[in-house]
Amino acid sequence: MKFTAAAKLFILFGDPVAHSLSPVMQNAALQAAGIDGLYIPWRVQSAGLPAAFESLRGMENFGGANVTVPHKEQAFALVDTLTPEAAAVGAVNTVVARDGHLLGANTDGLGFLRSLHEEADFLPRGKPCVILGAGGAARAVAVSLAEAGAEPLIIVNRTVERARSLAEFVYRKIGTSTTGLALDDPQMPATVRECALVVNTTSVGLNPADHPPIDPSLLQSGALVYDLIYRPRETALLREAKRRGCRVIGGLGMLLYQGALAFELWTGHKPSEAAMRHALVTAVA
Ligand code: NAP
Repeated sequence: MKFTAAAKLFILFGDPVAHSLSPVMQNAALQAAGIDGLYIPWRVQSAGLPAAFESLRGMENFGGANVTVPHKEQAFALVDTLTPEAAAVGAVNTVVARDGHLLGANTDGLGFLRSLHEEADFLPRGKPCVILGAGGAARAVAVSLAEAGAEPLIIVNRTVERARSLAEFVYRKIGTSTTGLALDDPQMPATVRECALVVNTTSVGLNPADHPPIDPSLLQSGALVYDLIYRPRETALLREAKRRGCRVIGGLGMLLYQGALAFELWTGHKPSEAAMRHALVTAVA
C-alpha cells in the first residue's frame, strides 16, 4: 500500500477494534481507486470519543470515519447533522466531513437490505420476519425491514425488556406491527415456524463451538435464514438451517455493502466491490 504525507486519513472508532475487517476491506478499495489515503483503526473508550470527534473538525486531511461497537449511539449525539437513515435508527456508523460540519450516516440497514435482495432476491414487503437479538445491529435490521414493508416483525431476545423496548421504538418510528418476545416465550416456536425470514443479530455463533441461538427444528424448509456473523462464514445456525431445506446467507455481504456505501459517501465514487470482496474473503479464510 502506497501513500504520501498528504494522504487522506480514514478512521474506524471502536472498542475493541483489532478484530475488524473494515481496514483490510477499505484499504483495498482505496488502493483500487488510486486514492492517496489510509484507513486505520482507532481504539477509543466511550469517555474519549467526544475529544476524538472534536479532533476530526480541525484535521485538514480527514477523509471519513466509521464507528463500531459500542459507540454508534454516542456518535449519533456527537455529529452536527444526520442522514435520514441515521435519524431513523438513532445510531451512526459513518461520518463524513461536509463544509466544516460532521455528517452522521448509517449504512448498516441499506447494506443489509441490498444483501437480502442481491443474495436471495428477497423482498420484505408483507412478509413476517423474526429478528433474534435486540442490540445495535438488531436496531438497524429492524428499522430497515420495517421501512421495506416487512410485517409483522417479531424481535426475540434473551433479555425481554430490550426486545420490547426495540419493538416499541420501531412501532413508534414507522408504525409497523412489532412485538418483543423472550427466547423462552411460549409464542416463540409458532412465530418462528410461520415466518419467511429469520435474522440472527445476536453474537451467538461467533465462537465456532456455539450452538444455534434457537432450536433449529423450528426452521421450516423454504424460509430464509440470515446470520449477520461473517466469521465463521458458516455458523451452526446456518448449517442446521441448510440441512432443513432453508435458504441461508452469512454476514459478509452486509459487511461489504455497508462499507461500499460508506466509501461512496466519503469519496463521491463507487468503490471496486470486487477488490473489497476479495480482501474480505481472503481475510476470513
Ligand atoms: P450487541 O449490541 O452487543 O448485541 C448483542 C445481542 O446478542 C444482544 O441481543 C444480546 O442479548 C445477544 N446475546 C449475546 N450473548 C447471548 C447469549 N449467550 N445468548 C443469547 N443472546 C445473546 O452487538 P451488535 O452490535 O448488535 O452485534 C451483534 C452481532 O452482529 C455481532 O456478531 C456482530 O459481529 C454482528 N454484526 C455484523 C454486521 C455485518 O455487517 N455483517 C454488522 C453489525 C453487527 P441481551 O440483550 O440479552 O444481552
